[in-house]
Amino acid sequence: MPRTLFISDLHLAEERPATTERFASFLAEVVPGADALYILGDLFEYWVGDDCLADGLPGQVAALLRPVASAVPTFFMHGNRDFMVASRFSRETGVHLIADPTVIDLNRRRVLLMHGDTLCTGDHAYLAYRARVRSPAWQAEALARPIEERIALARGMREKSESAKGQKGEAIMDVTPEAVESAFVSADCRVLIHGHTHRPARHEHRANGKPCVRWVLPDWYEAGGYLESTDAGIRAVVLA
Ligand code: MN
Repeated sequence: MPRTLFISDLHLAEERPATTERFASFLAEVVPGADALYILGDLFEYWVGDDCLADGLPGQVAALLRPVASAVPTFFMHGNRDFMVASRFSRETGVHLIADPTVIDLNRRRVLLMHGDTLCTGDHAYLAYRARVRSPAWQAEALARPIEERIALARGMREKSESAKGQKGEAIMDVTPEAVESAFVSADCRVLIHGHTHRPARHEHRANGKPCVRWVLPDWYEAGGYLESTDAGIRAVVLA
C-alpha cells in the first residue's frame, strides 16, 4: 500500500539533542518502505548557509538524511527558519528542494503543500521581513559574512522573533481564513497540508462552495509527530 509521510517544524538545534535523536528514530523506524517523505520547513532552528554542512548539527543531520533519501524520495520545503538551505545541502543529502507552495498528486487527488507562514497574512511586520530576507541580494550579502557572524545574526533574529511573538497575540500568528480560502482556490486543491503554527489539527473549510480539509503538522519540541497518507486516507500520528 502506498504510504507518504509529512513532517515539519522539528526545529533541530544543538541545544535540543533529544529532538535529533527522535528524528533519527523516526528515519530508522517509520520512514523505511514509504513512497515519499516531505519535510515542510523548519527542519532546523536556523540555517546560516550550506557552508555550515561540514560539521556540528548540520553535518550530523545530513549524515542521517543521506541513506534515507537514497532509498525513499525525500523532499524539503523552506520554512521561515531554514530558508537559506540551498543546492549544496540537496547534493550532499540527496534531498530534493521543492517550492512553497507545491501541489502533489496523492492517491489521484491534488494536495497543496505549504510551510504555512504565508497564510498568516495578519502579521504584516513578518511578511515585510520575509520579503526582505528571501531576496537574492539580501542572501548574497548575508552569505558574504563570516560564518560566526551569521550564527550570531541568526540567534539574534530568533530572539527578536520570540519576543515579538509575546507581544503580537495568538490571532495574528495564526492563518487567516481569507489566505486559506485563496490558497485552496488558486491551487485548485481541496486538501492542504502545512506546518509553521505549531497547532496540529484537522480543519474543515469551504472554498468555491466546496468542502476542503486543512491538516496542520505538529512541532517536535515535546513529542513530535507526522501525517501519513495511504489508500485509507490521511491520519495524524503522535510519536511516543
Ligand atoms: Mn515556521
